[in-house]
Amino acid sequence: MNAMRLSRAGPMEQRPLDLVDLPVPIPGPGEVRLRVEACGICRTDLHIIEGDLSLPTLPLVPGHQIVGLVDQVGEGVTRFAKGDRLGIPWLYSTCGQCAFCVRDQENLCDAARFTGYHVDGGYAEFAVIPEAFAHPLPAGFSPAHAAPLLCAGVIGFRALRLSTIRPGGRLGLYGFGGSAHIAIQVAVHWGCEVYVFTRSEAHRALARQLGAHWTGRAEDDPPGRLDSAVIFAPVGRLVPEALRTLAKGGTVALAGIAMSPIPELDYALLHDERAIVSVANSTRQDALDLLRLARDIPIRTEVEIFPLEEANRALHLLKQSRLRAAGVLTIS
Ligand SMILES: [Zn+2]
Ligand SMILES: [Zn+2]
Repeated sequence: MNAMRLSRAGPMEQRPLDLVDLPVPIPGPGEVRLRVEACGICRTDLHIIEGDLSLPTLPLVPGHQIVGLVDQVGEGVTRFAKGDRLGIPWLYSTCGQCAFCVRDQENLCDAARFTGYHVDGGYAEFAVIPEAFAHPLPAGFSPAHAAPLLCAGVIGFRALRLSTIRPGGRLGLYGFGGSAHIAIQVAVHWGCEVYVFTRSEAHRALARQLGAHWTGRAEDDPPGRLDSAVIFAPVGRLVPEALRTLAKGGTVALAGIAMSPIPELDYALLHDERAIVSVANSTRQDALDLLRLARDIPIRTEVEIFPLEEANRALHLLKQSRLRAAGVLTIS
């Protein structure tokens, strides 16, 4: 099968992914194999490929927002059958037994494995996953339009939850890429007033189209104080900017897997029970809930489509913030 594979981490400018021919993986007991139709690209892929995260295995096929059709099932598979369209997210497997797993925090499992990180992902024609960690997808989404729901959507949704935003509350979003453009639709659905902070005029225009109450740059002052904020951009200096806009008791959630250093904070910015919380991975329940909302709202994903072989170019555009929305690789 064709795959775009990483052999050595390096900057996107050096096109670190190579097109290679690999054996088609065989699903083991309890696993399903998908013939991949689409795989979303994510900022985490950038961090992996450029070596910002320590790499457990190389060579590696990245990609963890995978949509495809089941074409083979392993021994003992009962949930799914050949021909089902499924999604594979970042959470690939957990131990099911550690303290985190047994208290509904499987996203923090010490032995968790992640798709396109510990195991080969979806920048390929086929991918395999334990059936317990695959998700049926809502009807009405093409494979390319469903792909960004699986990480951008789910992580944004978990970030909204952890930000403690309530229906009707005033929410700030910092950065407006693949994740935020889905999160805003959930927040608007919950009746929130959404304030979007981003450098890009194209992103501000998209935010207004999707129901933003106000748009501006990070250094701009929104009218009035906000209840909660989510920072999607991997930029530490946004943390004090976001705290500055929060009302007493407000929480800012950090949605990225990596971030540049957070500058020294004046304690007054944090006092009055303001909180900073990071978001790490997601649970299967997060995915279930977001996929249900995607069907009910219904969420509209904005995608920019690239063929598999152009993964390097797509990720380079993501790095330069030159994608208008969520980048997706399509695989024929
Ligand atoms: Zn565990
Ligand atoms: Zn991701």
